[in-house]
Amino acid sequence: MRQDNDSQAGPMAELWVNPDLRPAADVLAEADIRLADIEDAQARLARFAPLLTRLFPELRAADGQIESALLPVPAQNAGPLLALPPARTDWGRLLVKADHDLPVAGSIKARGGIYEVLAYTERLALQHGLIAPGGDYAALADAPARRVFARHTVSVGSTGNLAMSIGIMAASLGFRATVHMSAEARQWKKDKLRAHGVDVIEHAGDYAAAVHTGRLAAENDPQAHFVDDERSLTLFLGYGVAALRLREQLAAQGIAVDVRHPLFVYLPCGVGGAPAGIAFGLKQVFGDAAHCWFVEPTAAACFLTRMRHPDRPGISVYDAGMDNVTEADGLAVPVASELAYAQMRHLLSGVATAADATLFADLAALHDMQGLQVEPSAAAALSGPRMLLSHAVGEAYLREHAPGDSLARATHIVWSTGGRFVPPEEFQAFLARGRAAVPARA
Ligand SMILES: *Cc1c(COP(=O)(O)O)cnc(C)c1O
Repeated sequence: MRQDNDSQAGPMAELWVNPDLRPAADVLAEADIRLADIEDAQARLARFAPLLTRLFPELRAADGQIESALLPVPAQNAGPLLALPPARTDWGRLLVKADHDLPVAGSIKARGGIYEVLAYTERLALQHGLIAPGGDYAALADAPARRVFARHTVSVGSTGNLAMSIGIMAASLGFRATVHMSAEARQWKKDKLRAHGVDVIEHAGDYAAAVHTGRLAAENDPQAHFVDDERSLTLFLGYGVAALRLREQLAAQGIAVDVRHPLFVYLPCGVGGAPAGIAFGLKQVFGDAAHCWFVEPTAAACFLTRMRHPDRPGISVYDAGMDNVTEADGLAVPVASELAYAQMRHLLSGVATAADATLFADLAALHDMQGLQVEPSAAAALSGPRMLLSHAVGEAYLREHAPGDSLARATHIVWSTGGRFVPPEEFQAFLARGRAAVPARA
């Protein structure tokens, strides 16, 4: 049996079902963000593809598109990964959306973060006449454009991965790049950014404090663009493009998604921007056939805390008795994004939480069974389907939303959000810890 909690005292892992879930069509009819906004973001990324290919030769094979694979998990691995009894085959199939392997930034932050830097770049480039609308964006890697960008700063506050995405992209274009890192940020991430020429400012405080400081610093500088992870609609739309890409990937694999073939997606959640952008896009594309679940560490369940308290904007995990101490650095966020919360309030199916010991056990299992290198934050996703399929509240949700034999035709996607650039020594230490956490699996 697996352990659902660390030896230290702390909140127990749980599955929470959203009592305010409403039909997607009703909610989206009132939403101030439209599918057309996400399609517009997709078109902007396509305009930049030739430039991205020029800046990052590893994107050549994908024609400048930053995208990850959708990997099927064989049934003989899926059952043990989800801790289901061998006889249980009524739950559909499992796939991994491999954002841990996204090129350039190595995490899900490549989607929103790089998109926001490109949107800012396009605005500046048009303003300064560096490109004409519909012109050749590859020219933005040339000296005249770089001279303009060098007079501007792009900055961000982050626990690590958003800084990697923003810092690497901005520095590659020739911007000055400043990142404000919270206490959780790993040394190797700071080292990698400095090697790219990024100005790394280290803060002793948490993520919310790092964002706040960065925002203030940029406000006083007209030549600076601050990527606001708590408030940015641009980031949100960049993340949302993942839904359009996933629709294509599912179709290419012959996987139907409709009310008779439900789609369950499990997304690790920090401040909420990335998972909410993707979930919002999926609800736009698939409506009520898509069931979106967030997964958070037991110590840093800020989105769950906000969802539980609809009348308390700004409520923190500290208010709810959690300490925000987790090895899942990408998820160590004390307060949820209000933008993400507002969009998810009636569209999110629910939230699962996972203890750190479970994250490490799943990190090791994903490596040993599937050959994947994911970071602890990404491994959180697996707790979603495991809890939905085995806890009483999950079973009640499924009886209502996937009645009859539709569950047997379901597709479950665990969104694996980061890991590509974790240094080998660090990954080996994660693995050792994960294998020790569940001896039966090692
Ligand atoms: C940032 C991050 C997330 C969650 O994204 P938010 O927008 O913070 O909710 C999940 N996994 C990893 C690895 C991340 O870096």
